[in-house]
Amino acid sequence: MARYHIETYGCTSNRGESRRIEAALRDGGHRPADGPDEADVAILNTCTVVEKTERNMLHRAEELDEQTPADLVITGCMALAQGEEFEQAGVDAEVLHWDEVPTYVRNGECPTVTDGIEPVLDGVVGILPIARGCMSDCSYCITKHATGKIDSPSVEENVERARALVHAGAKELRITGQDTGVYGWDDGERKLHVLLERICTGIEGDFQVRVGMANPKGVHGIREELAEVFAEHDELYDFIHAPVQSGSDDVLGDMRRQHQVEEFREVVDTFDEYLDYWTLSTDFIVGFPTETDEDFGASMDLLRAVRPEKINVTRFSKRPGTDAADMKGLGGQVKKDRSKAMTDLKMDVVGDAYEAMVGDRREVLAVQQGTGGSVKCRDSAYRQVIVQGAGEHGIEPGDFLDVEITGHNTVYAFGEPV
Ligand code: SF4
Repeated sequence: MARYHIETYGCTSNRGESRRIEAALRDGGHRPADGPDEADVAILNTCTVVEKTERNMLHRAEELDEQTPADLVITGCMALAQGEEFEQAGVDAEVLHWDEVPTYVRNGECPTVTDGIEPVLDGVVGILPIARGCMSDCSYCITKHATGKIDSPSVEENVERARALVHAGAKELRITGQDTGVYGWDDGERKLHVLLERICTGIEGDFQVRVGMANPKGVHGIREELAEVFAEHDELYDFIHAPVQSGSDDVLGDMRRQHQVEEFREVVDTFDEYLDYWTLSTDFIVGFPTETDEDFGASMDLLRAVRPEKINVTRFSKRPGTDAADMKGLGGQVKKDRSKAMTDLKMDVVGDAYEAMVGDRREVLAVQQGTGGSVKCRDSAYRQVIVQGAGEHGIEPGDFLDVEITGHNTVYAFGEPV
């Protein structure tokens, strides 16, 4: 769990983005700090409306970089449009899209479910934590201290909660937990696939289900059963988030991850066998204290070979109280260079995935208002599709619609209603 400091500049829309970032951080168990000097991560959400604002943003970034011992993240309009200016000014910061900030702050740890495990309805999105805790003891993780071993409510209980969310208006159910892949392990049996099957067959209504983070080890043991359930039920977004963290078994060993690279690849192969069109989301931590050049090369090779459609790259940073914090770390420049190299590769790989969608027709679910009158939608593989002029087309969050994919950006596609 990290303490964060967030500063927001500019318009209402940018403030809305900050609220979404904060909501995701609080959902993940992170807490606001009393100012940048108390924070583990400082976030600057920028605006770029006029030249004077740009100068102010650069100045504030330099100040924060100097004043705070925290990692600095710069997001917002100036980060997206002129992100290179911060580097040119010598600011040591991670420049990220709004959507990437919560993952960065998470620092490779699983999301935390600490304050009870009640479902939440947020617009048309129903968040359903299915369990608390995990079965691992990763050396860089502080979340584990707060959550402990997996504690899974019964399948029946979770189906009831899911039903209540759908009846209350949820169109997208997000199944969350530290590690959804080990749901049921405390009862002696992993049963994520059983729960998903029951949600898909036992609840009336039009809704989609997104399965949250599941570590490769847990998924590996039920990969056939899980892939089969995904292939059978259209209610499930064909999407898994299995954070591999490194392409080197040596580093995975030092991280005390429970999987090896081969097991991750077998999970991917199994989903490839069952599903023609799906999304693999994975995470890499770069610059772990024991990561050599060869280890980093293995991570890059894995990324090139597997070509995930969604990739989160986190530059390793020490969290107090963890075993990894006591390891002799790599230099900041090494971590920065590796992070940049992997981020560049990620942009190519993910950009190719979105480019390949152009010209396709897809059914999407409108999930959330976007900026400038647009609406953010998700297709069957949970790829993000932006539809402009939602009001003119009479589209609101919660609507299902057919679109033609007309273009793409690196991390999302553009769709026109058909
Ligand atoms: S799986 Fe690892 S990173 Fe995730 S909560 Fe457990 S110990 Fe932490």
